Amino acid sequence: MDKLNNFDSDDTTPEKPKKSSASTEMKPIKLPPNISVRQLAETLNVSVVDIIKQLMKNGIMVNINQVIDYDAASLVAVAFSYKVLPKPQVTRKTASVISEIKKYQLLSEEKSNLKPRPPVITIMGHVDHGKTRLLDAIRQSNVMDSEAGGITQHIGAYQVEVSGQKITFLDTPGHEAFTAMRARGSRVTDVTVLVVAADDGVKPQTLEAIDHAKAANVPIVVAINKIDKPDANPETVKQQLADAGLVIEEWGGDTISVQTSAKAKKGIDDLLENLLLVAEMENLLADPHQPAKGVVIEAEMDKTKGPLATILVHDGTLKPGDSVVVGTTWGRIRAMYNDTGKQVKKAKPSMPVVILGLHAVPQVGDTLSAVSDERKARELAERKKNIDEKTPKAVSLYNIFDQISSGRVKELNIVIKADVQGSIEPIKNSLQKLSTDKVQVKLIHTGIGNVTESDIMLAIASKGLVIVFNAGVETGAKRLAETEGIDIRNYNIIYELVDDVEKALKGLLEPEYKEVIVGRAEVRALFPSRKKRSVAGVYITEGKVSRGTPVRVLRNSKIAIESVVDNLRRFKDDVKEVTNGYECGIIIKDYDDFQVGDILEFFSRQAAD
Ligand code: GDP
Repeated sequence: MDKLNNFDSDDTTPEKPKKSSASTEMKPIKLPPNISVRQLAETLNVSVVDIIKQLMKNGIMVNINQVIDYDAASLVAVAFSYKVLPKPQVTRKTASVISEIKKYQLLSEEKSNLKPRPPVITIMGHVDHGKTRLLDAIRQSNVMDSEAGGITQHIGAYQVEVSGQKITFLDTPGHEAFTAMRARGSRVTDVTVLVVAADDGVKPQTLEAIDHAKAANVPIVVAINKIDKPDANPETVKQQLADAGLVIEEWGGDTISVQTSAKAKKGIDDLLENLLLVAEMENLLADPHQPAKGVVIEAEMDKTKGPLATILVHDGTLKPGDSVVVGTTWGRIRAMYNDTGKQVKKAKPSMPVVILGLHAVPQVGDTLSAVSDERKARELAERKKNIDEKTPKAVSLYNIFDQISSGRVKELNIVIKADVQGSIEPIKNSLQKLSTDKVQVKLIHTGIGNVTESDIMLAIASKGLVIVFNAGVETGAKRLAETEGIDIRNYNIIYELVDDVEKALKGLLEPEYKEVIVGRAEVRALFPSRKKRSVAGVYITEGKVSRGTPVRVLRNSKIAIESVVDNLRRFKDDVKEVTNGYECGIIIKDYDDFQVGDILEFFSRQAAD
């Protein structure tokens, strides 16, 4: 495509430039016969959104990748104070390039059957800033199905219609739900609305939401809400957003912001139109002729109807009678209902529907696939049950080097929680300097305070790790990190933190060992042995003991000795292992001094990973 820009001004016809009467201050510019919206934005040095808006004003509806002709491009350029130089003559060479491109575009369009699909939107923001009320206001003012008399059903998502185009809203607001879905491997949201109350401004959860959306690469549209309030101050909000790295269009950035009042139902249409605009640029496509694929966004057991699941279709068309695999369950769709409770015969891409006919309740975030018949669905579901469905192993400072070397990882995503803002800045600066051409160190979220479940979710979703500086880890977060294998590293000296990350990136970090208790026993009797060694008669109270296992003897909660298990005996026979609930005789290396009542703790050392 670049070739199209390399035309020579000698190749021009003496045609009059459009609106050339404009002032002499206008910057002169050459435009090719055809140019994509993206290229035009780059050439004119304005945002793509502005280009699309300008074209819309002239009745031309396009998306970012679409190619427009010279006349359309000139209209836009003039609007942005450029003086368009005369149209170049299309040489034989450029004509042939253009025709090749057109041929290719037609060919790929024919092949794919791809059609635009409605965008799926999630609303995020700080608590009490009006997310729920905004969702209600949008739904009430744009009910699609008037037949149903506006009776809405809560199914986890709903669709509205704006100027003949549909938009799907997920009605569980918040970045936690959004990232939890991503952590399960499902990308559902196309655009996010960040709600900021004009009387309260940017708050910690606003900042978290921004980071979560950015980590997912999901575009943000800001709704400055509660503008009806007397103490509303939208300008302060804009400033705070800019400080957080989100510069709105009005201030020269490329984030769209809209002022709303969910209470007074003001600005709702403006918000919806802008969502369509951003969605347009995302070029969202799906093929409605394919077998359906979708994601579970809600699921429950209904006493009379059996397992129910709300599916958000993302490709293909879902129909009653379809055989489906959903996570590790399966079934044949008996009936489908939309968000007004009406029975429907098909669900196209981006449409949410409740389905009946599954054999069990699936999990939120599970994927649905329509397959040829019920037998196949059952077979696939059973097979999935046997596969470890855990997300691929997260990175840790111990395996990052291997992951980089094998090409599996090109960025180290880090969440940092610290005690004070003053610690975050130097850590951030030092870590960012460690990026190399092979791996980029990316701080996907930094915040003050303890590590929360939401931080861990973000690390899971981004396959990253968590660094804690002089702060704690909430219990729930610790548990989640353990089950999902997320590496949490604690530091209180910046130098050590940076040094560890640097060593890890070079594969030089020595593994740290953590201890795992594998069993416990209680000494109940003492016997002399033939070899004059002291044998303790013990009862295994927990776990198990094997020959060669490290052991420590505890007396009155103090460590008497640490050694290893030399021998184990049950009824005169040497054995390799004894488990919980059994008695045995035990000899440990270099120790003869047992007493009845001693506690033996058996442990192993594993590389912390
Ligand atoms: P959420 O926690 O973000 O979902 O916030 P809610 O939607 O529950 O709203 C919190 C409170 O703010 C409720 O009392 C709402 O009625 C109120 N609220 C929401 N939007 C507006 C608004 O635009 N103007 C005013 N005045 N109040 C609002």
